[in-house]
Amino acid sequence: MARKKIIAGNWKMNMTPSQAVKLVEELAPLVKNDEVDVVYCVPAIDIVPVVEAVKGSNVQVGAENMYFEESGAYTGEISAAMLVDAGVKYVIIGHSERRDYFKEDDALLNKKVKKAIEAGLVPILCCGESLEQREMGVTMDWIRFQIKSDLVGVTADQVKDIVIAYEPIWAIGTGKTATTEQAEEVCKGIRECIAEMYDQATADAVRIQYGGSVNAGNAAELFAQPNIDGGLVGGASLKADFGKIVCY
Ligand code: PEP
Repeated sequence: MARKKIIAGNWKMNMTPSQAVKLVEELAPLVKNDEVDVVYCVPAIDIVPVVEAVKGSNVQVGAENMYFEESGAYTGEISAAMLVDAGVKYVIIGHSERRDYFKEDDALLNKKVKKAIEAGLVPILCCGESLEQREMGVTMDWIRFQIKSDLVGVTADQVKDIVIAYEPIWAIGTGKTATTEQAEEVCKGIRECIAEMYDQATADAVRIQYGGSVNAGNAAELFAQPNIDGGLVGGASLKADFGKIVCY
């Protein structure tokens, strides 16, 4: 069965609530493509107004992070149940900026993935190598380590519905995109890793995005690769260009 492409914007720490609503309104006529899933992953404070603003459209809302505990004394954190109640469907987990700046490790990310699934959210689980790792020739070893550790205790049935985003760190926000061959090679490797961990049917079902300086000019070629099922888009998701990416 063909996998439906999923194109998600990662707004990062951009857009105040009023700016967010304005952006959603500007993008609304440009992102109409029922053949793909369209997601805006937005800052926590923008979730409620953005959920309201996308009502009745083809756009779903995602969060950029969550905490794995149910509730309690975790000042500043947001639970999976809060996201679900607010109308969120997806949640980015393990973005390289969270791994790097906020020291999120794979044991923590594994807890987040499991909690997100349990709550009914779809995790967009990020993985990716640094430039140093790529130059050392350990890209696939590193990514296999991330995937295996982040999915400990997650069943095949659960994995089928998650999204994995391959994001080479050296390509994020740098304007430096992985070549189509590099992106496809790693996405294929991730699918092979899932097949080894689970089975071929699970690997064939899971959606794998590429992320890293995706833009209106390179999206079509990247998304045409057999193992690339869409993109996680940072900078270009905040502009009209996102419409061109969605309607690639
Ligand atoms: C990202 O932050 O997930 C990302 C891919 O950013 P950019 O598209 O700006 O490289």
